[in-house]
Amino acid sequence: MDPQVSTIIIIGIGAPILILIVLRVFNIFSKNPWFCKNFGWHKTPKSISSDGCSLTGICPRCGKKVLQDSQGNWF
Ligand SMILES: [Zn+2]
Repeated sequence: MDPQVSTIIIIGIGAPILILIVLRVFNIFSKNPWFCKNFGWHKTPKSISSDGCSLTGICPRCGKKVLQDSQGNWF
């Protein structure tokens, strides 16, 4: 394969992943509910309760009721 072509492919795959990682890091430190609204990346609630099958809580950033999925993410 032409080295230029493989470079373009690597950037094409790498750039979106890099942007996603940067957004994820910003998400951890940001108090802006923009991430909640646009990506559904909610913060871990301060008080967590269980509704019987899943963990629930209130997102401290946007105030919405959130559930925890099997990967430990809040949505
Ligand atoms: Zn939220």
